[in-house]
Amino acid sequence: VTAPTRFSLQYSEYWRHNTGLTFGIKALLHSERSPFQHVEVYETDAFGHMMTLDGVIMITDYDEFVYHEMIAHPALCLLQDAKRALVIGGGDGGAAREALRHPSLTRLDLVEIDEAVVEAAKRFFPQLSASFGDERLKLHLVDGTAFVKEAPKGHYDFILVDSTDPVGIAEGLFTREFYEACRSLLTPRGVMVVQSESPFDPVNGHVVKDVRRLFESLFPIAETYLASTPSYPYGLWSFTLGSRSLHPLRDYDAEAAHRSPFADELRYYTPQVHTAAFALPAFVRQLLSE
Ligand code: SAM
Repeated sequence: VTAPTRFSLQYSEYWRHNTGLTFGIKALLHSERSPFQHVEVYETDAFGHMMTLDGVIMITDYDEFVYHEMIAHPALCLLQDAKRALVIGGGDGGAAREALRHPSLTRLDLVEIDEAVVEAAKRFFPQLSASFGDERLKLHLVDGTAFVKEAPKGHYDFILVDSTDPVGIAEGLFTREFYEACRSLLTPRGVMVVQSESPFDPVNGHVVKDVRRLFESLFPIAETYLASTPSYPYGLWSFTLGSRSLHPLRDYDAEAAHRSPFADELRYYTPQVHTAAFALPAFVRQLLSE
């Protein structure tokens, strides 16, 4: 955090060298060193509340809807009748909020390693953490890599991994072993979606390709899709979807998605955006083909 001559505070997240994203800051609302990471919440001057973990931007009030709608609805609208979902990470409650909009869901297991994130979300992000009040949600404060080893096989219709970047405590959530364990938890029609970093990122961009390769080796159907995420590095984010039987375009019923009871509540995801998200720019296709 710096204090430029205008006597205003700024928060800068550096992506590479001296290039990154800077927010005007009104106040630091929360700072806590949990056993796992440094949890901070800022009041920004243009993006509302912002949570960072170990200095990396996780969520802002202003644009969280993009990422959370796009990590949950493509798979759940593809499935249409998912009953049981598993969310790994996502301790802010945002991905769970979106998944729980689907009335077919009867149970959502949320596996978050760090209780400090959950508590900070409850205090400063009520529009996200309201999902913790849903009786269908069961919170597990454990490491996702341990949880998937013990969870019941063939149990989940949908698995979503909303993790931090592939370093430190989240590193194990980007491995073949972890994805194989998740696959064993899916029903035959089950679908899995993971956040797979930004294709623009020279440091983590390889994750887009690496995760896609792993999914291609584990699932008959593996696809990458994108969303515009202003507060995330480079402003463009990728997700990777894997399934044994459902293709996100061939088997997608746009009319059913249009008729979903929450369609008018969403601010990013639409059936048209669903289809367009899988249309990859040339540089991403090139990255995936390398
Ligand atoms: N949307 C953000 C992004 O794309 O970077 C991620 C947000 S969410 C806050 C990420 C969560 O993953 C954090 O709360 C972190 O504690 C959790 N996490 C990291 N490693 C984990 C693990 N091994 N098991 C469970 N949760 C984990």
